[in-house]
Amino acid sequence: MIIQLEKDITAKDKENTLKIIKAEGYSITEVKTQLGEYLVCLSKNDSDIRKMGNLPGVADVHRVSDSYKLVSAKWKLNNSSITVEDLTIGGGADFTLMAGPCAIENEEQVTAIAKHLQANGVPVMRGGIFKPRSSPYSFQGLGAPGLEMFHRVCKAHNLKIISEVMETAQIDQMHDYVDIFQVGARNAQNFNLLHALGKTDKPVLLKRGISGSIDELLQSAEYIFSSGNEKILLCERGIRTFETASRNTFDINAISILKTKSHLPVIADPSHGIGIREHVPAIALASLMAGADGCIFEVHEKPEEAYSDGQQTLNFAESESLIKKLNKLYRFKKTELALL
Ligand code: PEP
Ligand code: MN
Repeated sequence: MIIQLEKDITAKDKENTLKIIKAEGYSITEVKTQLGEYLVCLSKNDSDIRKMGNLPGVADVHRVSDSYKLVSAKWKLNNSSITVEDLTIGGGADFTLMAGPCAIENEEQVTAIAKHLQANGVPVMRGGIFKPRSSPYSFQGLGAPGLEMFHRVCKAHNLKIISEVMETAQIDQMHDYVDIFQVGARNAQNFNLLHALGKTDKPVLLKRGISGSIDELLQSAEYIFSSGNEKILLCERGIRTFETASRNTFDINAISILKTKSHLPVIADPSHGIGIREHVPAIALASLMAGADGCIFEVHEKPEEAYSDGQQTLNFAESESLIKKLNKLYRFKKTELALL
């Protein structure tokens, strides 16, 4: 059960509410986010929730049977949206594009890509400063010194920034330089990191784990929400299966399922999802039709020279063509199909 408290609930009313719920045999987690205050109440026994609904200072009471609670669509009928200054993601806003290189390499590379994104109306630039690489001998990212440069170039081109945070110590280090924190697939169940991101005021894009189920993704999102941050974007980036013809298996089902299981916005990552450049546009377009609120993809001026993930990275011509198709398909979906 989730109890939504009134914004101006008095300390006395809250204490009284807690006392009554405890007496009913519930264990309670108090959650305070940027947007609201909630009591997540768990119990083996069922009780009449109408009783709690009438308590002073209680705004609403919802029964949620899922293993995740606050991120569940069972209590919040309207889809959530996340705002980053003038940009709104999800909640029926226009399809959001985020693009950029796998890794931030140098100022020349960032500038060329930033110009390309600005010219094509992409509002958010992606790029790893800290890179989680399978091999310790692969490029690990520019690290902290790259942050200031990435931020400066993006701001000069009116772009928002999303970048991966790999450990809790990097949160403060990155905070003033990014607009959205990205949690990578390899950290999807790093609960210390998720908990710490719950204490930040910035949105978090949470990727699905390499072998993570949809429920596990939602439970990881629950860690961030219950720790105090409800600005969460869920990201389908493909999972590991028996298939070897693609790097990962992009789970198109997950897009549609996540949209019904959760009120949070869903972003597709077709680049890591399939891992092969020529197939990225098809998967991006499919994800829009499946209900994604946005798409994050890899682009580089010279993918063949990229320090990482060049095989799945679009060049500028391919990226421009995909953006045009996505915009066109989005308009078609919204008007002719009236699906939005
Ligand atoms: C990335 O976005 O470059 C990345 C490393 O993605 P993932 O965590 O999905 O592998
Ligand atoms: Mn990558």
